[in-house]
Amino acid sequence: MTRARILILGGTGEGFSLAAHLDAVNDIDVVTSMAGRTPAPKVPRGAVRRGGFGGPEGLASYLKAERIAAVIDATHPFASRMSRNAAWAGETAGIPVVHVWRTGWERVKGDDWREVDGIEEAVALLPVGAGMTFLTTGKTQLHHFSGRDDVAFLARIVAPLKPAEDVGALPKRLTFIHDRGPFDMERERRVLLENTIEWIVSKNSGGNAAYPKIVAARELGIPVIMIKRPDGPDGVRVPDAAAALIWIDATLGTSVSCASIDEVMV
Ligand code: NAP
Repeated sequence: MTRARILILGGTGEGFSLAAHLDAVNDIDVVTSMAGRTPAPKVPRGAVRRGGFGGPEGLASYLKAERIAAVIDATHPFASRMSRNAAWAGETAGIPVVHVWRTGWERVKGDDWREVDGIEEAVALLPVGAGMTFLTTGKTQLHHFSGRDDVAFLARIVAPLKPAEDVGALPKRLTFIHDRGPFDMERERRVLLENTIEWIVSKNSGGNAAYPKIVAARELGIPVIMIKRPDGPDGVRVPDAAAALIWIDATLGTSVSCASIDEVMV
């Protein structure tokens, strides 16, 4: 039997879990693609490539040149461009693509959510003189808050910004903490209490790794400005890594699926 080469578009816990699982399967070669923006990322098992493909055309060429049999788009739900590119490139190159589209968080009793369609709306909704505001939307989104001199921010990003790294103008009153998920309840409660957080701005990322802050906010009565997720990608969608393996078997005639797949979160 010829070896099947599977490309995982990664940068998430699901991508990490899938790489660990597929790397251990005979007759499968797995390569994970990372955007390459996080210094010292957790490195998935199997082969890894870093950096953009040069748009959808670049990805389509890569799929053909590398003889990829199938693509698992396990990017974050807010990485819409990459998912769109994957759908287009797969269609163009005639290579099947599945999108792991995890279920979003649902508001439950006790949540004080203010849902918005995008980051600009989140900036506008933050009240004048709002107390310390916890930003968990990533380093590339900080510049949106740069006009809010009336608010002090605590931003959690994975690693310190490099001196030459340009993420645009930063808010004047900004403190960083550096940490990487998965986060647990105790740590999240502590972050919110020790920093006297009064508002949180979060993407509705779904999944377990970032959910404890939402639970801690509920417990502490902290309002969350929740950015709704973008529309999911067109094409075949599955809710999790285990379902992506079932799709691989159905598509490639392999036997890679299993009763459960370890959930590795990054
Ligand atoms: P994006 O806006 O959808 O993508 C922008 C460009 O970055 C893509 O067009 C592609 O460049 C490149 N890119 C993105 N993901 C890539 C990957 N896995 N491998 C190679 N190139 C990739 O993506 P983003 O929101 O900036 O996210 C970047 C990465 O961080 C993704 O891997 C995502 O899973 C991860 N991540 C994102 C978030 C989030 O909130 N957005 C949160 C956690 C993790 P080319 O067009 O040149 O191919």
